[in-house]
Amino acid sequence: MRRLLVAIIGAGPAGIAAAVELKAAGIKDVAIFEKAGHFCSTIRRLYPEGKRVDKYYKGININSKGVCSFETETKEQFLERMARYINDYQIEINYNIEINGLERRENFYIIKAGTYPVAEAYVVIIATGVFDRPKKPPYPIPEEIKNRVFFEIPKELPEDEKILIVGGGNTAAELACILAGKCDVYLSYRRPEFFRINEENLKELEQRKDYITFFMGTEIKGLEPANDAVRVVFNNGHTEVFSKVFYCLGGSTPKNFLEKMGVRIKDSLPEIDEFGETNLERVFLIGDVAVKRGSILYAFHMAHISIRKIIEKYLKNFTQQPVWKS
Ligand SMILES: Cc1cc2nc3c(=O)[nH]c(=O)nc-3n(C[C@H](O)[C@H](O)[C@H](O)COP(=O)(O)OP(=O)(O)OC[C@H]3O[C@@H](n4cnc5c(N)ncnc54)[C@H](O)[C@@H]3O)c2cc1C
Repeated sequence: MRRLLVAIIGAGPAGIAAAVELKAAGIKDVAIFEKAGHFCSTIRRLYPEGKRVDKYYKGININSKGVCSFETETKEQFLERMARYINDYQIEINYNIEINGLERRENFYIIKAGTYPVAEAYVVIIATGVFDRPKKPPYPIPEEIKNRVFFEIPKELPEDEKILIVGGGNTAAELACILAGKCDVYLSYRRPEFFRINEENLKELEQRKDYITFFMGTEIKGLEPANDAVRVVFNNGHTEVFSKVFYCLGGSTPKNFLEKMGVRIKDSLPEIDEFGETNLERVFLIGDVAVKRGSILYAFHMAHISIRKIIEKYLKNFTQQPVWKS
């Protein structure tokens, strides 16, 4: 079993930025555990090819003083940037390891994958994001149409189909713009107007408005099978048949996962201080998993302030291996 000064769970922007900050501060004994077979798995999986990665996202206009930063660029350029950080700072990432347990032993934590102990660490940083648990609607999705209802963007985008996109955020807007002109696109949003879409996406929607039918102020009551298609029943009594339905409702805090780790949750959010420290001493949350609404730059910023605090509070004398008491 590995003995680490800092173990980071999740190799997304937050986890990688935390490792970079530690390495930049001279802390060597750091490793990331990532459940997927590659880094930034959320971005690879959920961002369409060529997607613009906005520096300022969802109105979070923060500037990070940390090592990691970026300007608006494409998904592919962003992934190359992260690969450079990993390479330049020699970040160790252990792939295909899903961490789901944490056990305190004296002055360190045992990190577990199932019942299997993977590492012992003095400080633990949880940076697992929220997109493994996409938000789902409250009504059931009938079995017969499950293959026509999506909670993430599939590798092969539909063509010449009648598509309903549900949601009013940037993800819904971007998907509508990508499919506009290629499919007959409808967008259903429960509010009468968009209110949290960034300016670029609003402009892009405006440019494509002739190719998108907006169902603003609509709520869906349920979905029904309809001859190799999906009948959508709206609250106002209107029904319409679509070939496929895409829900873009965002992710949700992995409450059970965190509670299993021993992290206290209050009002559906983890209880943390301003530096991300949880009720468990030396266990920190950073990135999307720590907040209600996150972004990449926010993840970079949080990694920076958390690591500064971690070093000041716990690692000042630990620029080399810790002395273990086991
Ligand atoms: C479609 C879409 C478009 C977006 N566009 C933008 C944009 O333009 N600009 C912007 O700033 N933000 C954007 N975002 C938000 C942005 O992607 C997130 O804020 C950012 O990825 C958060 O980083 P993170 O490291 O906290 O989490 P994530 O990126 O979700 O990374 C978490 C990592 O942890 C791993 N993991 C999860 N559970 C475990 C476990 N138990 N054990 C080990 N590893 C685990 C995951 O596989 C993943 O690699 C977008 C999000 C979506 C879904």
